[in-house]
Amino acid sequence: SQAFYDIRAAVTREQSAPFVIEDARIRAPKNDEVLVKILATGMCHTDMIVRDQYYPVPLPAVLGHEGAGIVEAVGPNVKDIQVGDHVVLTYGYCSHCHQCSDGHAAYCDEFYPRNFQGTGMDGETALQDAKGEPLHDHFFAQSSFATYALSLENNAVKVPADAPLELLGPLGCGIQTGAGAVINSLKVTPGSSFVSFGAGAVGLSAVLAARVAGATTIIAVDVVPSRLELALELGATHVINSKDEDPVARIKEITNGGTKFALESTGRPQVLRQGIDSLGLLGAIGVVGAPKLGTDSTFDVNDVLLGGKTIRGIVEGDSNPKQFIPLLVELYQQGRFPFDKLVKFYDFDQINEAAADSERGVTLKPIVRIS
Ligand code: NAD
Ligand code: ZN
Repeated sequence: SQAFYDIRAAVTREQSAPFVIEDARIRAPKNDEVLVKILATGMCHTDMIVRDQYYPVPLPAVLGHEGAGIVEAVGPNVKDIQVGDHVVLTYGYCSHCHQCSDGHAAYCDEFYPRNFQGTGMDGETALQDAKGEPLHDHFFAQSSFATYALSLENNAVKVPADAPLELLGPLGCGIQTGAGAVINSLKVTPGSSFVSFGAGAVGLSAVLAARVAGATTIIAVDVVPSRLELALELGATHVINSKDEDPVARIKEITNGGTKFALESTGRPQVLRQGIDSLGLLGAIGVVGAPKLGTDSTFDVNDVLLGGKTIRGIVEGDSNPKQFIPLLVELYQQGRFPFDKLVKFYDFDQINEAAADSERGVTLKPIVRIS
């Protein structure tokens, strides 16, 4: 086995700069690390907000956190993953803190450093550019906008070899976030009402999951008409364009007083407020949309108090990825979770087009074919 691999990586050198594909090198896996040859990587809004430095990941960095590929090499302590396995890469977690031990790895004590610090936990990068300078990496324990990515055994999730691997990367973040919020966190019940504020990749994954969970009133709220049309196709029973009508009044009308469950994925504090206001008695809203650090929102204290309302933050759908990602693959293969309808593929050298199409609302979930 070799010490370094020559790779191609999309580098973000400055705040809001376009991705530039460069030659780079990545070191071989150690300990419980897994080196994955990346087939395709989904693009999530979180890549854009980090490129724009809402979260201060140090630059230059290689982003990308919805990677799918084939295991190329493993470190000596890897137990359950072998060279040639098909894997989806998900977020990093330590496996041994209180929350990880309790099955809530998305709230790992080390979530921030393992996903956003821009180096491994030893403070070193595994990547260097063509001049030998370090490139910040380990983004979501992978940095998968690159032909190879280094991750750990615990965040590389094996998937069946007969599943379409190039499609599966987004299950590692955006799709798992929307679906897990509905199934694991809110625990949407059969016959209930559910409102998705935001019909982007996360919000529409939530719509698909609400249908799996048996909700009978499923409302999507957005400001982009094409997204609302797709929501109807995917199982929403009602859609609301909040540019044209007041979503709170309309939701109360449709649900006879307020919805039981809601999810906010727009990252806008005023939309979160609409979500809280549109809950019915004992209703619960999940918060997944990420604004700039330090953003405040408001709620009417007595409305929350007297209504018995719950406002709940949700990271990565609070899922146990080694169980939940294979479950989503199985639902997809059974035709019950058609998340492929959200996806458009781009070549690696079209990565900036993928980002622009996502930001303009043209493409819901870009997947960049890497190799
Ligand atoms: P997206 O851009 O595809 O979706 C956001 C949607 O909100 C868009 O469809 C947009 O048209 C809609 N929107 C904007 N303004 C609106 C308004 N006033 N009313 C209603 N809808 C409005 O992004 P995404 O990939 O679906 O991600 C959604 C959010 O979730 C982002 O903030 C992302 O960073 C965050 N995220 C969080 C987690 C987590 O673990 N909590 C994981 C993944 C993504
Ligand atoms: Zn993401």
